[in-house]
Amino acid sequence: MVRGHSRNKHVIVVGAGLGGLTAALWLAWRGCRVQVLEAASELREVGAGVSLGPNATRVLRAVGVLEALNGRISRPSRQIVQSWDGRILMAAEPNNTDADAAGYIQVHRADLQQALLGALEKLAPGALRLDSKVTGCEPEATRAVVTLRDGTRVAADLVVGADGVHSAVRRSLFADDSASFTGIAAYRGLVPQDRLPALDAQAPSGMTIGPGRSFVRYLIRDGEMLNFVAFVSTSDWEPEGWSVACDRTELERHFAGAHADIQKVLAATPGTMFHKWGLFGRSPLERWTMGRVTLLGDAAHPMLPFLGQGASMALEDGCVLARAIDEMPNLEDALKAYERVRVPRANAVAEASAARAAAVHTGRPDTFNRSVGEDSVARREHLFGYDATTVEIALR
Ligand code: FAD
Repeated sequence: MVRGHSRNKHVIVVGAGLGGLTAALWLAWRGCRVQVLEAASELREVGAGVSLGPNATRVLRAVGVLEALNGRISRPSRQIVQSWDGRILMAAEPNNTDADAAGYIQVHRADLQQALLGALEKLAPGALRLDSKVTGCEPEATRAVVTLRDGTRVAADLVVGADGVHSAVRRSLFADDSASFTGIAAYRGLVPQDRLPALDAQAPSGMTIGPGRSFVRYLIRDGEMLNFVAFVSTSDWEPEGWSVACDRTELERHFAGAHADIQKVLAATPGTMFHKWGLFGRSPLERWTMGRVTLLGDAAHPMLPFLGQGASMALEDGCVLARAIDEMPNLEDALKAYERVRVPRANAVAEASAARAAAVHTGRPDTFNRSVGEDSVARREHLFGYDATTVEIALR
């Protein structure tokens, strides 16, 4: 229900990732004046897909972004889980048939980013400012001020830190808090359609579990590309950066002995298409807000991607924040309601993601089956049944 309390509120969103752009779009859609400050000089999502459940696609559908992605998404008809030697441990058919459900999709991050930006540009032309790295943020009682790298200071009614796991905004609010390496490295790659191998398993969408390793693959761009992400437990992460190019041999070494489909996917990936990430985490926060500054997405609640919910939580956050600002008569209450609705859910999903990571990386089918079996129906309903576009926004 649109109430109109957001009208003309000036909101600065720091960071133009999937979370920041979704928040900016929802805020603009509900009548706020938004400005997005992004550190990078161009918006570029390094080759990778993202899978989004109905809880995330409902947020996109409500503001027309799901429609804009038409022809660029894949909807898996069957998903499998395989053991290290290729046995099929589990097979599921995601429910994409319910006419009311926005569905489960897999999409290239760059396509989603462009669709979000295109929709934002229509509502708030020029809202995105690139080359605008925020170095600090001062929360005040009735406004907030951000400082940019060049020393410029910009004030707004509200600042939203959507600047990812290494968030400068979060550091300004909670000085002692820093991100640490979780002990898991992620590798990503893309295989173009003309190099797609014929897989032994009858499903392009699936996950393989192994000792300290796992491998997830799925199609994106309506089947034009195969995306994979591989996770490796490791104690060393080079401090040269948190996202770097890497070569095939590193992955071939980690996945030596795994079933043939993994070897085929690695062999088919062009050499320039391998990248690796260190997965960083932070202790959960009970509060995300101080004065007129709040957080969302990975800045508020980084999580291991083993339930594929990090981006989805960021999308839910942006939607609920915009609705709270619009539906509550004053900003202080809106920020309280936003936290009340979002903190418990995001922290619970982060905790469940860590538990799933531990179960997957035992590499033991019985442990994995138990972890999925214990919670599957309730967890799927809890994760995918949530509707951020209608959830009740209230102070208690
Ligand atoms: P980010 O995407 O990190 O965006 C932050 C933005 O802020 C960036 O554009 C950055 O340049 C900018 N920025 C940073 N610092 C500053 C600053 N000081 N000033 C201005 N701008 C700044 N989630 C899913 O839902 N499904 C999946 O399938 C999935 N798979 C994943 C696979 C891997 C390997 C990984 C690592 C994560 C995965 N996730 C997935 C999680 C998901 O990618 C993240 O949770 C999500 O992208 C977080 O979005 P965000 O907007 O909060 O942060």
